[in-house]
Amino acid sequence: MSRKPARVLLATRNPGKIVELRRILAEPPGVGDQLEILGLDDVPAYAQAPETGATFEENALAKAREAAAASGLPSLADDSGLSVDALGGMPGVLSARWAGRHGDDLANLQLVLGQLADVPDGRRGAAFVCAAALVMPDGAETVTRGEWRGELVRAPRGTNGFGYDPIFVPAGERRTSAELTPAEKDAASHRGRAFRALRPALTKLVVED
Ligand code: IMP
Repeated sequence: MSRKPARVLLATRNPGKIVELRRILAEPPGVGDQLEILGLDDVPAYAQAPETGATFEENALAKAREAAAASGLPSLADDSGLSVDALGGMPGVLSARWAGRHGDDLANLQLVLGQLADVPDGRRGAAFVCAAALVMPDGAETVTRGEWRGELVRAPRGTNGFGYDPIFVPAGERRTSAELTPAEKDAASHRGRAFRALRPALTKLVVED
């Protein structure tokens, strides 16, 4: 008896995100080896609605539903961000555009640092949060959430990663997440946790022949 690789669409045009998901699902070996992960550049283009959800879960689910409806393929999507205790959970779903322009990582990070300038050590807790959604063509839906707690330092350090990584020191670490290797980050990160929690649902995609 052999298993046939199942095709699954990840709703992203970022090839780095596909590589990251393959890496996350590869450890430990299992369902990841049985999946062929496609990106949006591998399927006919469709209109994508703007991300307007109030929660990470709503945004991830909306993107996965849209991808499944347009492609007919089982579809995955994620939404993530930084939730800062001293800012009441913000930037949250606004993390990518906190300084006003989508994806300006440096401006976003500097704005958060400025907002926390007078917040003392010990009250600089934060969490990276990720919601991951899987929507099957028959409409079955699974949504998971991963959180990675830590503290925000006052000056950026490290060149790995992206976004707020240079100011985030995970709990139990001295290094920022921009100073961890990709494998170290995957093992602990919000995205690693959220996508690994989808494994049981992904297993259902792999059919025996
Ligand atoms: P998205 O889910 O890819 O849209 O990411 C939202 C935003 O959250 C990013 O632009 C980053 O600012 C922030 N973010 C999410 N995950 C991470 C991470 O692992 N490291 C640093 N920043 C992150």
